[in-house]
Amino acid sequence: MKVLVVGGAGYIGSHAVKALEVAGHEPWVLDNLYQGHRAAVPADRLIEGDLINPPDLAAVLDKTGAEGVMHFAALALVGESVTDPAKYYLNNVVGTLNLLEAMRERKIWRFVFSSTCATYGVPASSPIDESMPQVPINPYGDTKLAIEKALEAYTNAYGFGVAALRYFNAAGAHHSGEIGEDHDPESHLIPIVLQVALGQRENVTIFGDDYPTPDGTCIRDYIHVDDLCSAHVAALEQLEPGKMMKLNLGTGNGFSVKEVIDACREVTGHVIPAVVGSRREGDPAELVANSSKAFETLGWRPKYTSVEQVVASAWQWHQANPNGYGDGKE
Ligand code: UDP
Repeated sequence: MKVLVVGGAGYIGSHAVKALEVAGHEPWVLDNLYQGHRAAVPADRLIEGDLINPPDLAAVLDKTGAEGVMHFAALALVGESVTDPAKYYLNNVVGTLNLLEAMRERKIWRFVFSSTCATYGVPASSPIDESMPQVPINPYGDTKLAIEKALEAYTNAYGFGVAALRYFNAAGAHHSGEIGEDHDPESHLIPIVLQVALGQRENVTIFGDDYPTPDGTCIRDYIHVDDLCSAHVAALEQLEPGKMMKLNLGTGNGFSVKEVIDACREVTGHVIPAVVGSRREGDPAELVANSSKAFETLGWRPKYTSVEQVVASAWQWHQANPNGYGDGKE
């Protein structure tokens, strides 16, 4: 199938391009390269353009003949969404609606959407299943939930076939070693800890050790990016017109910040100094997925089940590419 991967030069999108190729599909990438990396995708498959410009969308859909769309292009920094919500609503909501309208005009109905566990806000219990209330606590989560709701309406009214995939913490790098995670500035735990191991930072700050968890630090569900992407391909292949799947994508295993740092020490053999700082605003104590619905619906299982495996894969990329793609971009 010809598939347009919007945001395909970014971290998860570029891994999805590889997963689509391996599965025998024909991926095309639309990216504005604001956060994406030119080097992360085959040059002959990259089309530069922006969701905010409807003519870019018309051109890319017509040129590629896409039969389905995977949509990864979004701004995803919680703090920035609080201080600059206009930027988030414009890119994440208006941009996505432009894309849906361009698809509707061309009767393209297959849509796989990057949603997030941030739509659950502070969950009442853990692990989280899809029936739990979605009450985001920041504009980033609000924009993702707004699109989920729009997609539900487009499914019912226009016969779109949709998968809204609610990711937990994406981590790791492609098994080939060719692509990986490169954000600037980096805000995610595993790459930050590995930057300490590489000597690029003095230490890692643990954002709070007074949470109601066994060691006092936040617990997250770290899912390998290759596993996330194999779930995307499975979801794409199972879309049906007029039906929407809403699926959590996680491993079901939670690891605390301290456990992640310990795993990084073990994998890298470096000391990795850590200091305890204050809590980061908007961090729930525990976010772990119940992904049984995805397991059943997609016939999919994550291959990376321990955080050490995920860290080892990230370490392989960061060691070989200490400056990421070297283009100084997110
Ligand atoms: N974290 C931390 N220090 C850092 C970065 C992150 O203690 O320098 C914690 C953060 O508070 C959260 C977990 O690590 O509990 C994962 O954070 P990350 O930003 O990687 O992903 P998020 O959970 O925000 O999607």
